[in-house]
Amino acid sequence: MPKAPAIDQQRLLDLQALDTRLAQLAHRRRTLPEQVELDGLEKERRRSADVLVAARTLVGDAERQVAKAEADVAQVRERADRNTARLRSGGVSAKDAQALEHELESLGRRQGVLEEEELLVMERLEQAQFAAAELTTNDAELAEQIAEVTARRDEALAGIAREETATLARRQAIVMGIDDALVALYEKVRAPRGGVGAAMLRARRCEGCRLELNASDLGVIRATASDEVVFCEECGRILVHTDESGV
Ligand SMILES: [Zn+2]
Repeated sequence: MPKAPAIDQQRLLDLQALDTRLAQLAHRRRTLPEQVELDGLEKERRRSADVLVAARTLVGDAERQVAKAEADVAQVRERADRNTARLRSGGVSAKDAQALEHELESLGRRQGVLEEEELLVMERLEQAQFAAAELTTNDAELAEQIAEVTARRDEALAGIAREETATLARRQAIVMGIDDALVALYEKVRAPRGGVGAAMLRARRCEGCRLELNASDLGVIRATASDEVVFCEECGRILVHTDESGV
C-alpha cells in the first residue's frame, strides 16, 4: 500500500474540489448558452443573406424592365412628335398627311399599351424594392443582435478565463503542499474515473461512487494506519478519511 501523511491525503480533497471546479468551468465554456444563441442567430443571418441576395436580384431585374419600358414609350413618343411636327410644318401632300395622321393614331394606341406595361413593371419594381428594404432592415437587426450576443458571450468567456486562472493558481499552491508521489497517484487514479481521483469517506459512504462500505471493508480501514493510502473497493478512488468518516 502506498503511504502518504494523513494531512496530505486530506489536502487531496481540496485539490479534488478545485479540479472539479475546473472541469465545471471547461464544461460551461463548451456549453455556453450565449454561444448556442449566437450560433442560431448566425445561421438565421446566413439564411436571410441568401434571401436578400435573391431580393436584390429581383430589384435589378425590375429596374432593367422599367428602363426598357421607359425607352419603348419614349421611342413611340418621339416618333409621334416627329410626325406632328411634319404635319404642322405644312410642307406635306394631302396623301402624306393622311398617312401621317393614320400612323399617329396607331402610335397613340401603341403608346397607351406601352404606358400600361410601364406602370405594371414600375409597380413590380416598387414591390421588389419594398421587399428588399424590409430584408435589409431585418439583416441590420440581426447584425445588431449578433454584436450584442457576441459581446455577452465574450464577457462570459472572460469570466470563465478569470476564474480558471485564479483556480489554477490556488491549485498550484495546494499541489506544492502535497507529497509529489501522492499527487502523481491521484492524477493516475482520476484520469480514467471522470476526473475524480480522491473521495471523502463520509458517514461510511464513498463520496466518489456513493456506495456504502460494508462492515469488513470498514474493519480493514479501521485497522489501517492513517498514513496508508486506501482505495474504494467499488470505484478504485483514493478514499480519504476524516473525522466525518464514521469509521
Ligand atoms: Zn467509491
